[in-house]
Amino acid sequence: MKTIGMIGGMSWESTVPYYRIVNETVKERLGGLHSAKLVLISVDFHEIERLQQAGAWDDAGRIMAEAAKSLRAAGADFVVLCTNTMHKVAYAIESAVDIPLLHIADPTAEEIKRLGMKKVGLLGTRFTMEQDFYRGRLSDRHDLEVIVPNEVDRETIHAVIYEELCQGKVLADSRRQYQRIIQRLVEDGAEAIILGCTEISMLIGPPDSPVPVFDTTSIHARKAVEWALSVTTPNAAPR
Ligand code: GLU
Repeated sequence: MKTIGMIGGMSWESTVPYYRIVNETVKERLGGLHSAKLVLISVDFHEIERLQQAGAWDDAGRIMAEAAKSLRAAGADFVVLCTNTMHKVAYAIESAVDIPLLHIADPTAEEIKRLGMKKVGLLGTRFTMEQDFYRGRLSDRHDLEVIVPNEVDRETIHAVIYEELCQGKVLADSRRQYQRIIQRLVEDGAEAIILGCTEISMLIGPPDSPVPVFDTTSIHARKAVEWALSVTTPNAAPR
């Protein structure tokens, strides 16, 4: 079994499920007392969020690169960045270490395509919903048609992530808001909804949506186990 290198803490509320899911999946696959070999490095999300707000992505990228180097030095065979948003600086990680990064958007898109779906509604932080690093990867590399909520609804989705979910607050009123926004995306033709932020599954699950939801936390964590148990280490994704 290979050693998974996880960069967590963004927020820690979603790093906990990552840890649980990789261990549960290893146990499902190997049985008995088996558990995942992994190294976790966890950052202070306060610092990261301030850099995001300031648009200081290069600084944030340097922190991610240092984290990846520490994982490599501790024996990790590949890197799992436990957040969608920080994949904006995936390039910083990929150029800092010679082990591959398992990009969160790829297994998510693969699962959607496997089920024959093409048009997806994307929920996440404003960065993830609005910028090309994520939407562009889904459309250019995976040929998915991506739609996002309108500006007011994007603000609601974003605020709930940072002000509530990342702080462990799961509120019924916010769930209703998300359900309404999902409904709108479905009316606009979404055949599936990507929970493109690793905390959203704390609030939203399959019963909250008339179309299938794809939880990036669970998909990413399960794919990490697939990589860990595969005979060959997949190559780093082409840039
Ligand atoms: N965990 C969230 C995500 O998946 C948001 C926190 C962050 O900004 O990293 O995007």
